[in-house]
Amino acid sequence: MRRLPIYFLIDISESMVGEQIQQVEEGMASIIKAIKTDPHAIETVWISIIVYAGQAKTLVPLQEVVSFYPPKFPIGGGTSLSKGLGHLMFELRKNIVKTTFEQKGDWKPIVFLFTDGVPTDDTKAAVAEWKQNWQRTANMVAISFGDETDTKVLSELTENVLLFKNSTDQDYKKFFKWITDSIKTSSVSVENNSSGFELAKLDGDTISKIDLSKDTGPQQFVDNNFVVLAGKCQNTKRPYLIKYRKVVNPTNISGLDFNTLSYRLVGGFQVNESYYELSDENGFQSKVNSSELIGAPACPCCGNQYSFAVCHCTKIHCIGDEKVSTCPWCGNQATYVSGEGGFDVNRTQG
Ligand SMILES: [Zn+2]
Ligand SMILES: [Zn+2]
Repeated sequence: MRRLPIYFLIDISESMVGEQIQQVEEGMASIIKAIKTDPHAIETVWISIIVYAGQAKTLVPLQEVVSFYPPKFPIGGGTSLSKGLGHLMFELRKNIVKTTFEQKGDWKPIVFLFTDGVPTDDTKAAVAEWKQNWQRTANMVAISFGDETDTKVLSELTENVLLFKNSTDQDYKKFFKWITDSIKTSSVSVENNSSGFELAKLDGDTISKIDLSKDTGPQQFVDNNFVVLAGKCQNTKRPYLIKYRKVVNPTNISGLDFNTLSYRLVGGFQVNESYYELSDENGFQSKVNSSELIGAPACPCCGNQYSFAVCHCTKIHCIGDEKVSTCPWCGNQATYVSGEGGFDVNRTQG
């Protein structure tokens, strides 16, 4: 049986932390479940999941769906699309079964790329390699989660650039159903000996095609839709992330209209140690002023009342009622007083 390899290349950068990554996790599980019961797809479809943040890794190697167990998704720092693409091309090269005299090789692999932001590194070389070696050998569908993605770079990779309006539970259900249907229709098209690539119908609302003629502006290296701060728990020593979403506030002062920008708390999230492994150590450092941040959560690891203490070493950790706190990053001991006014803190790349 000729295989139809399906690759998922999934952005697990900090801005995905919380509900989004949980939805992706459940969505991927629903795809696997649906394909296991589809007589066409089960015969031909093989699936692999690759994740990328500041680093990329194979979460699930290419395998038959029968033996597929849906994974837990990690979170990392940064959005290195070039490392994600590089890793994808490495896996494609490694796994591909070519047609020879004795055997029929794989159908064209299908790649579903999910991203919610802007690459935090230079993508030129990886995009050029993709164009040269893979654009005709694989079918890619690039999906923007929300409308603040760098669609220009996606449009260089493929003509199939889609927008997914990911606001409600129901949207995610529809979206993953659409992915499942697209895999099914593609596996049927394989049986009919046609292309092996046929996307299900778009509903035009939850999932729609992006107009690529629109200019999306200059490249940036920090994701500005979210501010994410990386902290470490004083008690458990575990890493956590504090996520804020950008809010643009139309303001009118003395008859003048303008917008002010602030960031509202989404929540605090515990992440596991693989966060460091999947982050870019040489990441670009940028700052945000605490006066732009609205709200602060309790420590998501130990429940300490305040998750947002900034040590002299510039790192963030939680504090509770203790008289003297010990920074879990540098070991410095200090007594904290609540700060007056705004101060600059390091933000992650998102
Ligand atoms: Zn804590
Ligand atoms: Zn410190």
